[in-house]
Amino acid sequence: MEEQRLTGIGMTSARTRERLVQRLEDQGIRDRRVLDRISTVPRHLFVDEALASRAYEDTALPIGFGQTISQPYIVARMTEALLAGGPIGRVLEIGTGCGYQTAVLAAFAAELYTIERIEPLLGRARRTLRELKIRNVRFRLEDGSAGWRARAPFDAILLTAAPRVVPAALFEQLAVGGRLVAPVGAEGRQTLVRHTRTETRLERELLGPVSFVPLLSGLQR
Ligand code: SAH
Repeated sequence: MEEQRLTGIGMTSARTRERLVQRLEDQGIRDRRVLDRISTVPRHLFVDEALASRAYEDTALPIGFGQTISQPYIVARMTEALLAGGPIGRVLEIGTGCGYQTAVLAAFAAELYTIERIEPLLGRARRTLRELKIRNVRFRLEDGSAGWRARAPFDAILLTAAPRVVPAALFEQLAVGGRLVAPVGAEGRQTLVRHTRTETRLERELLGPVSFVPLLSGLQR
């Protein structure tokens, strides 16, 4: 029973997941490592049981508290964008949510630090990742705008909620050669941006229009 819950049956089976991966490939995701990871992480465990049958549709779904689990295409796109510039040893994620993006990213990082401002979401993400035996993730209840200075510098920083402007503190915590990927802009018209830190400056590449929940300040218990 327990084994079946983890691997899935019917609408959550390996076959259903393969269809999702095929769709992501058709949409232009090329990195085989990312596609393989998407096919192994059981997305149905990150959503409410009532939504489990829709877990392998390429769509965002509600996770409570007005937040959503990111669309698989976007998770794949952001992961691919972070990996493109070389290995990512130490990674910071802002906006844990249900932990799905965290679980996908954890396979590529030595150490992954994730920050969430809504306490019950963080608790649930922690439990789900423990159940999946993902052990290289450290969780923190905090407003992520200030980053995680004690663990900096990071090879990769990912925002899964959109700021109007990326907080300067985050760029300061990026290693030379490191990449910061974030949806940036006002609600309804955000752009996914990859910033690469070089010795002397920050390079910016626009990766296309996206739709994310906004980066908010303060904590919610
Ligand atoms: N990748 C997540 C996406 C969750 S939505 C998933 O797949 O589940 C974005 C998350 O960012 C929400 O959970 C929201 O509470 C969180 N968030 C928004 N502003 C934040 C901030 N300043 N610090 C930390 N987390 C924040």
